[in-house]
Amino acid sequence: MLHGVAQDRWVLHIDMDAFFASCEQLTRPTLRGRPVLVGGVSGRGVVAGASYEARKFGVHSAMPMMRARRLVGYTGITVRPRFPVYQTASRRVMDIIRDEAGLIEQLSVDEAFMEPDELHGASSDEVRDWAHHLRDRIMQETGLSSSVGAGSGKQYAKIGSGLAKPDGTVVISAEHQHAILDPLPVRKLWGIGPVAEAKLADIGVRTIEQFAQMSRIDVEMTLGKTNGPALWSLAQGHDPRRVAPRAEAKQVSSESTFSEDLTSVDEVREGIRSSLAKAHARLMKDGRGARTITVKLKHADFEQHTRSETLPFPTTDWDALFRVARRLAVDPAVGGAVRLVGVSLSGLEAARQEALFPDLEPSVEAGAAPANIDGADFEAGVVSAIAALTKADSDDIARPDGDKVASVDDSGTGDEEDHGQAVLQGEKPVVWPATLDVHHSKYGHGWVQGSGHGVVSVRFETRTTGKGAVRNFPTDTSELTPADPVDSLEWHDWSERVEGPDE
Ligand SMILES: [Mg+2]
Repeated sequence: MLHGVAQDRWVLHIDMDAFFASCEQLTRPTLRGRPVLVGGVSGRGVVAGASYEARKFGVHSAMPMMRARRLVGYTGITVRPRFPVYQTASRRVMDIIRDEAGLIEQLSVDEAFMEPDELHGASSDEVRDWAHHLRDRIMQETGLSSSVGAGSGKQYAKIGSGLAKPDGTVVISAEHQHAILDPLPVRKLWGIGPVAEAKLADIGVRTIEQFAQMSRIDVEMTLGKTNGPALWSLAQGHDPRRVAPRAEAKQVSSESTFSEDLTSVDEVREGIRSSLAKAHARLMKDGRGARTITVKLKHADFEQHTRSETLPFPTTDWDALFRVARRLAVDPAVGGAVRLVGVSLSGLEAARQEALFPDLEPSVEAGAAPANIDGADFEAGVVSAIAALTKADSDDIARPDGDKVASVDDSGTGDEEDHGQAVLQGEKPVVWPATLDVHHSKYGHGWVQGSGHGVVSVRFETRTTGKGAVRNFPTDTSELTPADPVDSLEWHDWSERVEGPDE
């Protein structure tokens, strides 16, 4: 490695800050400055995104929604994920990054590596300036904040962006690399998961420095000959991996092997739930929805069962995916004791707004699901959504462009964050799910803040409006129609490249 201020290789990693929640706050100004949770609204799913205001309460991604909602309390707002908005925002952000950096390696909907030619041989100050310029441009053009890490390889750039969060830049030069990395826990290294971490902890190795100082033979004995040496070399400060575009994943999956065989259908369903939770977290990170759910069960006699089901629409909705996955369970009384449970989600496509497609689960609604905890869950969900919606306040009428965030705290938004699928009669919603995007010919684009007592309250606002006013309508109104959530971005100054690499 070079010494001094200039160095040959600079890899940068960019990670958008609280991306899903930031997109919500961008397009719904009322949410700015407030704890926002993005995720399943039934409380059974996990947090897909949380604003920094929510993180102050200890909320993090993949935490059970129920727990997160308890932590943030009454000022928190839960919104259904709007993947079409996040995907659109992602494409615009990635367009800017490509324009600045040339070739990029996109890791997920909101993360990418880059290695700009113009930074070859640059000093750390030049790299910092370059990163500031990129982050400024993204903020100027999209209104979204990001963090950038830079270092002599991917691993160090990635650690840098983690240290830079939120809204910062951290440059880890080769000359300072050891000083910064050595004291960090080994877990910060890519590829060191909880299992490897525990194995290293068993022999007293907790920091990157301690790991780097192990002998090769000890590393191979502890972590295996395949992975051990590669991780060891990362700890020692060598990461020669190239930045290269990667193909989009075809599926996300997770599987678990159990130390004791699963012998009841409840245990199998629990195994499915925990594998699905991990696969679902990866799906959220990917940003697309899945159409096909596959459950693989390996039995104690090594026999294997694989069953799958395909939905009419790609979805990210925890409840919809879980309902299907548990249906695919095989009773051990029939198939034999189960040793391994795997769940994979495939048929990945841009998810549509689930609320607009309440027939996603026709078989359940028709009562066709097998006996029948599924049907009971569905009923209970609808009942609780309606109960929550009927709590809606209607005192929150038009405080046009209220200037202080606090002025919305007593409004309905904190109270009726519960919402289910749209309940339709013919084509018209009679229950308007909270946070659904709607359009009104005079007031424009808005989102449902709550409904009940025959009244639906809509806050009319988009990225460009500032905090909008709430207006009430009878629930059977013909003035409101469900709208494309992407309209809330109002990015008229940008049109997507038709032949973009994500298309
Ligand atoms: Mg991020």
